[in-house]
This record gives sequence, C-alpha cells and structure tokens, in this order.
Amino acid sequence: TQQLLLQSEKLTVAGQLAAGIAHEIRNPLTAIKGFLQLMEAKLTDDKTYFDIITSEMDRIEIILSELLTLAKPQDMKFVKSDIEQILESVKTLIDTQALMNNIEIITLYETNIFSIFCDENQLKQVFINFLKNSIEAMPDGGKITIELRSHGIDKLKLLFIDEGSGIPDHILNRIYEPFFTTKETGTGLGLMISKQIIENHNGTLQIRSDKKGTIVEVILPIF
Ligand code: ADP
Ligand code: MG
Repeated sequence: TQQLLLQSEKLTVAGQLAAGIAHEIRNPLTAIKGFLQLMEAKLTDDKTYFDIITSEMDRIEIILSELLTLAKPQDMKFVKSDIEQILESVKTLIDTQALMNNIEIITLYETNIFSIFCDENQLKQVFINFLKNSIEAMPDGGKITIELRSHGIDKLKLLFIDEGSGIPDHILNRIYEPFFTTKETGTGLGLMISKQIIENHNGTLQIRSDKKGTIVEVILPIF
C-alpha cells in the first residue's frame, strides 16, 4: 500500500509537469530544426551549427534524465541503509568536481550509526543535487560542510552548508518551482525533484540563505 501511495504521488507530480515539460523540450527542438534548415540551404564547412545542435541535444538529455527520476516509480526500492555510507559514496562521487573548483568538502558525523529506510539511489541523487548547487554557487572556491546529527529521538538532521553567493530573498520562494533557474545552463528541476523524493521518504527539506551562504536542512526518520 505504501508503495502504491508513493507511486500515485509521483504520477501526480509528473502530470502537473507535463505541460511545462512539453514547452521546455519544444524550445531546443525548434532551435535544432531551424539550424538544420539553414544547413540545408547553404552547405558549408562551418561546424558551428553542429556544435549548437550537439549542445541542444545534450540539454534535452539532461532534462529528460532528471525527469526520469520521477517518471520511473516502479524502480523505487526501499531498503534499510546506513546514511553515513550513502553520504560517503556521494562525497567520493563529487570530490573530483569539488577539487577542480577549489572546494573542500568537510564531513561532521555524530558517532551514532544511523539506519534509515530509503531508496539509496534516489537519496544519492538528492544529495548530489545539493552539492552541485553549492559548487555552482562558489566560483571562487571555499568550503562545504556536511553535518549529520540526531534530531529528537527518532529522526536525523542533515545539513549541507556552503559559502556561496546565497539565494536572494525575492527568489527563495521560487526555488522549488519546476524549471525555475538562475543559471544559463540550469534545468531548474533539481530542487523540485529533491523535495519530492525527501517527502516520499517522510522527511522534510528546508533551505535558508544569507550573505555567508546557503544551508540546506533535511530531516529524515531513523529506521
Ligand atoms: P538548477 O541548479 O538547474 O538551477 P535547482 O532546482 O537545483 O536548479 O536550483 C534552483 C535555483 O535555486 C538555482 O538556479 C539557484 O538560483 C538556487 N540555488 C539552489 N541551491 C543554491 C545554493 N546552494 N546557493 C545559491 N543558490 C542556490
Ligand atoms: Mg541544481
């Protein structure tokens, strides 16, 4: 029953998104079609059109792969997992990218070992989303801190603290909107999907920000 509930929740989101998705996919496709027509009209050695076509194709792929996280409810697999292990594997995945941007990722774990009931891949995707956002907000490098502590008797609290540009007040209430992005090549899907996944895990997501940076707070039930 819980599985069914999760599925129907996800489908509702997918349904709400349909119109927006169609629109977002149509824009790059229109560009591709236009450039193909230009190529047909005057065949030259110029490869510029090919570059644009390739990058627009990449964009479609990124958007679709982010959406696949939501569109494949049958792939959800909830198992008992160790949150610390999940965080460590996420850190390993993202560390190279962080180092290339002069960013150090620091982890502060409380000594307790926390088990949670979760879909590991989906949670990993969520944490990668947060860390990518932090890296993208820190062009001059700096430090990202991941904190794990207990919260009450039956929950854990996870904090992702960065030293980035922060989120201006007037856009803070828009960051979960599908396709809302302040980045030239952003998809604006990361936080919307992350919020959905955390809520599917009976958790909460809160993001606050000031001039010193951004704090992403996740609360999840302990198994
Ligand atoms: P995307 O990263 O593709 O833009 P997201 O849904 O991940 O989409 O984020 C939406 C927006 O929220 C970003 O474009 C950015 O403006 C803001 N944002 C999210 N995380 C951070 C952060 N750690 N620091 C500053 N801004 C952030
Ligand atoms: Mg993002």
